[in-house]
Amino acid sequence: MTEHVRVAVIGSGFGGLGAAVRLRREGITDFVILERASSVGGAWRDNSYPGCACDVPSHLYSFSFAPNPDWPRTFSGQEHIRAYLEHVTDVFGLRPHLRLDSEVLRMTWDAQELRWDVETSAGRYVADVVVSATGPLSDPKIPAIPGLDSFPGKVFHSARWDHGHDLAGRRVAVVGTGASAVQIVPAIQPEVSRLTLFQRTPPWVMPRVDRAVSGAERALHRALPVTARLRRGLLWGIRELQVQAFTKHPNELGFVEQLARRNMARAVKDPALRAKLTPDYRIGCKRILLSSTYYPALTRPNVDVVASGLSEVRGSTLVAADGSEAEADVIVFGTGFHVTDMPIADRVVGADGRTLAESWKGGMEALRGASAAGFPNWMTIIGPNTGLGNSSMILMIESQLNYMADYLRQLGVLGGRAALDARPSAVHAWNRRVQDRMRRTVWSTGGCTSWYLDASGRNTTVWPGTTAEFRRATRRVDLAEYEVVRAPARRDAAEEQVAEEQAAGSQAGEEKEVTA
Ligand SMILES: Cc1cc2nc3c(=O)[nH]c(=O)nc-3n(C[C@H](O)[C@H](O)[C@H](O)COP(=O)(O)OP(=O)(O)OC[C@H]3O[C@@H](n4cnc5c(N)ncnc54)[C@H](O)[C@@H]3O)c2cc1C
Repeated sequence: MTEHVRVAVIGSGFGGLGAAVRLRREGITDFVILERASSVGGAWRDNSYPGCACDVPSHLYSFSFAPNPDWPRTFSGQEHIRAYLEHVTDVFGLRPHLRLDSEVLRMTWDAQELRWDVETSAGRYVADVVVSATGPLSDPKIPAIPGLDSFPGKVFHSARWDHGHDLAGRRVAVVGTGASAVQIVPAIQPEVSRLTLFQRTPPWVMPRVDRAVSGAERALHRALPVTARLRRGLLWGIRELQVQAFTKHPNELGFVEQLARRNMARAVKDPALRAKLTPDYRIGCKRILLSSTYYPALTRPNVDVVASGLSEVRGSTLVAADGSEAEADVIVFGTGFHVTDMPIADRVVGADGRTLAESWKGGMEALRGASAAGFPNWMTIIGPNTGLGNSSMILMIESQLNYMADYLRQLGVLGGRAALDARPSAVHAWNRRVQDRMRRTVWSTGGCTSWYLDASGRNTTVWPGTTAEFRRATRRVDLAEYEVVRAPARRDAAEEQVAEEQAAGSQAGEEKEVTA
């Protein structure tokens, strides 16, 4: 049976759950949340690796409309963020809308009916509007390493941690030195017999000023919610000031590099190891990582840093690009996600029969990070160029929710059967502005390659401005940027029959004659 809904939300991370709360607040209750997994939480459900925690203080990395006075630490761990999202699901009455174990396999625009046919692993839906919140970092990427199949031990990705596999006393290789690896290494180092870290490029690492939130602070936030808002405001303001350096004055970041160098020098006394760990690009070009335990862990006697990427596997021997070899029982890939090749794009078929992936083959682009030309009534949360280098993604998600709410309001005002399709000229103009501003940012000038860049070297991931600028740009939908699509007039029953007969062709007519 096919269920018809006003809105189909895909994904139940911060983006999808936030969209659901906003829909209810807008008075829209005719919607479903389609989630491929068996529970909500998105990235914070899937990433349960040892040490997994947020890089942004919790009082900022949470919904403004659902403050939590009880965050246990300034930077909360994965299990607390996941519990927070479960709590949001309950408090805002989202459970009845959830369709778990429902992976969206394909969605196709029906230009006749002006709606999306959504095919999932658990049934079909018809939706007037699709809000796709499938996450920028939700499909793990494992590089194609020659010989990996020959590895006799256990292999897994950081985002699909195998908790059934005990690492105690094992020889473990960690591949990659991004945000996840930097948290995993100090968490597992004390228990493994040998840890080999394959590092293609060293990250810049700053101290993590994490501490328990005291009982007094929590009581204050509970009794006087304005204090929690002030705290959030302060955390936000500091990051808004920082972003100016990333986007407009990368040369001023030399001072921050000094702090990061000092952080390393305090922990790493061996000059050879320090040399391996010192980046040769401007700080901020790749995401700045926060850890006070990473460098100390790398100095422990059971750890080897191979300053070269993993290039080949020969049985249990791992070979680096520089020829060095290491033995391992387990390989953990901390190698990131499909970001600039958003997997859902292969599953969205637009007005002209092309997939979103085909339409984006020259690089992802969307109007105000939300809508793509030729894909009416379809929008994405955390779409192209909405990522942040230094602040909370929840701020960007909430901006996009404002845009979504206005989009639905405008559709309501248009009345009847209507859809909004982003004009190609508006999409291109928006992206030209974004890419113009990108040119002088640290992500373009800093001398590194990063996961922010797509195959052609274009940054289609990060927003080159402050979160306040993005908030302003997404407050309202400008109808001039959209084409209003109206449904073709419905045929009456007699016209419908004639059309069907014509489509079936003369053969059908002959068959009729024969069987009559
Ligand atoms: C380890 C880790 C640490 C991070 N730390 C920070 C941080 O410190 N600060 C920060 O701002 N951001 C951080 N992020 C970024 C994080 O991705 C965002 O902050 C935010 O959680 C994204 O929410 P989302 O709802 O858009 O995506 P997700 O949380 O990824 O949720 C997407 C959901 O969509 C579902 N889905 C995907 N495809 C389909 C399909 N075809 N059908 C049905 N369901 C589907 C997935 O199962 C998932 O539940 C981190 C990400 C990771 C992975």
